[in-house]
Amino acid sequence: MSETVTNWAHTITYSAKEYQRPRTLDALRALVAGAAKVRVLGSGHSFNRIADPGPDGVLLSAAGLPPVIEVDPAARTVRVSGGVRYAELARAVHARGLALPNMASLPHISVAGSVATGTHGSGVANPPLASAVREVELVVADGTTVTIARGDARFDGAVTSLGALGVVTALTLDLEPAFEVEQRVFTELPLDGLDFEAVAGSAYSVSLFTDWREPGFRQVWLKARTDRPAGDFPRAVPAARAMHPVPGMPAENCTGQLGVPGPWHERLPHFRAEFTPSSGEEMQSEYLLPRSAAVDALAAVDGIRHTVAGVLQICEVRTVAADPQWLSPAHARDSVALHFTWVRDEAAVLPVVRRLEEALEPFDPRPHWGKVFGVPSAVLRGRYARLDDFRALVRTLDPTGKFTNAFVADLLDA
Ligand SMILES: Cc1cc2nc3c(=O)[nH]c(=O)nc-3n(C[C@H](O)[C@H](O)[C@H](O)COP(=O)(O)OP(=O)(O)OC[C@H]3O[C@@H](n4cnc5c(N)ncnc54)[C@H](O)[C@@H]3O)c2cc1C
Repeated sequence: MSETVTNWAHTITYSAKEYQRPRTLDALRALVAGAAKVRVLGSGHSFNRIADPGPDGVLLSAAGLPPVIEVDPAARTVRVSGGVRYAELARAVHARGLALPNMASLPHISVAGSVATGTHGSGVANPPLASAVREVELVVADGTTVTIARGDARFDGAVTSLGALGVVTALTLDLEPAFEVEQRVFTELPLDGLDFEAVAGSAYSVSLFTDWREPGFRQVWLKARTDRPAGDFPRAVPAARAMHPVPGMPAENCTGQLGVPGPWHERLPHFRAEFTPSSGEEMQSEYLLPRSAAVDALAAVDGIRHTVAGVLQICEVRTVAADPQWLSPAHARDSVALHFTWVRDEAAVLPVVRRLEEALEPFDPRPHWGKVFGVPSAVLRGRYARLDDFRALVRTLDPTGKFTNAFVADLLDA
């Protein structure tokens, strides 16, 4: 490849023979039909080789296609093209008095890439972002378009698809009436005696943050909808000023706090759309486990807290409601998500990731598809009951494995 293409964190350099950014759908179709191996790159916010086509493949970006955001206020839906990011989508949707049910921690990520990996926000009643999708339009291996809508027997394999079925050129998402959210930050929540269910259920979206240098949580972020009854949070001390979850980072990059109500898209993410959330000097890992195991899993991490803290910037604990998507890390189980933002030092971090995975092993962790993990594919296959169905779907839509890269081949044992 003549130009060097990396992920957002510059930890992965993609090994493609060509990088293509078609400007029209016809050009995209022709490229796909004529190539032997293709992978799509979204906004590049993943931390592993999930998007890498390999040295003989074409790395294709949908970001050069004309952006489409078609809101249908009567149907309360939006059709969005494959390269659009959540920040642009949220602004357009909000301008029509509508809302997405949830967002991830930052709005800079592409919609298609996010739902492909099972990206999620937080909330005991909030499933991953893919659950808002009602229809997906894919350019498949022969360059034709296949549309798969909710109700189609293939649908639960078609959204969180790891990019293995084709190029997602458009998604249609369900919307709801716009709502406001108040965000409050509390400090120093003890781990000892933690009533996780009560804490996680105390607002629409709840995140706990810790650096694991001391036991317990340094910050608790509560995002409460103003159209729902709000409770008190007597378990920790309200912060007197706006805070960033990572110690030493500027709070100006973060969405409004101190209980000032604001539109859903300016409170549900932690980071403001107009700021780069950090310098990208990081790696990330995340594991989804049954929510019922949250306290035991947190105790297991606490047991190796000094090892973890040595290479950690911040750990975030969220909840994710069960999701029907076959490859969703929250598939068929209400989950707790343990997220780790590491320092960007692979040699120091990978041994800690292995140690962490050993500690979490009793809880059947499913790693986030877009982050750093070492759980072997043979083990992962046992954690996805519908993997055979997904394999069959790949074979039907992509018989020659044009969209199957090393990451997907390893998982599917293909
Ligand atoms: C700072 C930061 C914060 C994050 N916060 C969260 C968070 O709050 N919650 C969470 O769950 N995750 C989070 N993530 C992870 C992130 O959401 C995922 O890695 C997500 O996949 C990123 O989307 P992307 O478009 O950048 O994907 P990429 O890394 O570009 O691609 C991911 C996958 O999607 C596929 N893909 C992308 N576009 C298409 C398309 N049009 N058609 C077919 N396949 C496609 C790619 O082939 C690849 O397999 C965060 C990451 C970063 C860097």
